[in-house]
Amino acid sequence: GSSPRRGAYRFLIAILLAFCIGIAFGYITSITATKDAASTIASWLKALGDIFVRLIRIVIPPLILFTIAAATSSIASARRLGRILAIMLFLYIITSTLAAFWGILGGVLFQPGIGVGLQPPKGYQPPTPPSGPDLLLSFFMPDFANLLTVSGSMTMIIFAIILGVATVFMGEPGRKIASMLSLLSTLMVKFVSVIMYYAPIAVFSYAGWLMISYGPAMLGAYAKFLGVQYGFTLFHFIAIYSIIVMLGGLNPIVYFKAQLTPFLIAFTTRSSAATLPFNMEAARKMGVPDEVFNITLPIGATVNMDGTALYQALSVLFISQLFGINLTSTQLGMVVMATLIGSVATAAIPGGGTIMLAYVLSVIGLPLEGVGIMMVIDPLADAIRTAVNASGDNACTILITKLIG
Ligand code: ASP
Repeated sequence: GSSPRRGAYRFLIAILLAFCIGIAFGYITSITATKDAASTIASWLKALGDIFVRLIRIVIPPLILFTIAAATSSIASARRLGRILAIMLFLYIITSTLAAFWGILGGVLFQPGIGVGLQPPKGYQPPTPPSGPDLLLSFFMPDFANLLTVSGSMTMIIFAIILGVATVFMGEPGRKIASMLSLLSTLMVKFVSVIMYYAPIAVFSYAGWLMISYGPAMLGAYAKFLGVQYGFTLFHFIAIYSIIVMLGGLNPIVYFKAQLTPFLIAFTTRSSAATLPFNMEAARKMGVPDEVFNITLPIGATVNMDGTALYQALSVLFISQLFGINLTSTQLGMVVMATLIGSVATAAIPGGGTIMLAYVLSVIGLPLEGVGIMMVIDPLADAIRTAVNASGDNACTILITKLIG
């Protein structure tokens, strides 16, 4: 058998190859085929990519249900650790919200998706976002069928949180259910891993489709997106984590040195889960006691993803710009909230953040094709966000250690 690490590299190479072949195929088609033939090929390619998006739509509701319910029940049952958990959650929320904010700022300032002019899918209607009391009520949809759609996810999240708390109310028997929920959440993550076998085909197809239909403009937009994403993500890493670490009473240089190994492991494996042992080793080196990082790092690896929050927020803006859809300021506010939840629900595996982008897009009412469009450049976008996801857990851990004394 092969190690998971080897498998991850093979997957990475498959995706990168699919990307290059898709671009080349699209380019050659666009210069050699007749206009009619090219547009027929483009629509077949797009259909092949859409299959991937549709597979993801199916997995989002149960994925959200089980991951959020399992996380809630494990946090709620650890009441003994109340103080450390409260401080931890507070820091995780603050840093992820800031990161989402940078993503929006980058999208507004640099407008990486402007000028391509993608056609929205047939029959697409820009949503009229509810506001005020209607917005609040839209989070609590009463009918069951609605829960099983991507757009019912907000209600599903509330339902999942209540379910997680209920397992704690149940006492001893509830623990069995809690461990079942966590098993089911692992199962859904594996379900995603199975869908991921199709990802290289989807990447090839979408890259080819975009190349035939939108050509170099699309490549330019991708390059701009990655430039903005890397710039703001590294800014968050260097500036914000320096401040957090200093507040925690540690010299940032010590932190960046210790964090270098986990950063590079996360950058190459693109999995916070796979990076966890290296993050723990770095925490130990920086003098964090075991009983602190044994709680903060595993929970952080699954719920605290600053790089992903930034990426998802920026992606929402990018996709809205590609399709020429204007977002109101209410919608921008919803982007922050949705990416905060989306980054918590994201699985700590390669591509997890792009899968969960389906949820964020549906909250805002943008075309879910955005997921396939982002999948095309995911190996590059995933590397930096995962490196910063993992590093954020350790920066917060240092401050938590100081705050709990
Ligand atoms: N790959 C990321 C991680 O493991 C999640 C993501 O795709 O955003 O942290």
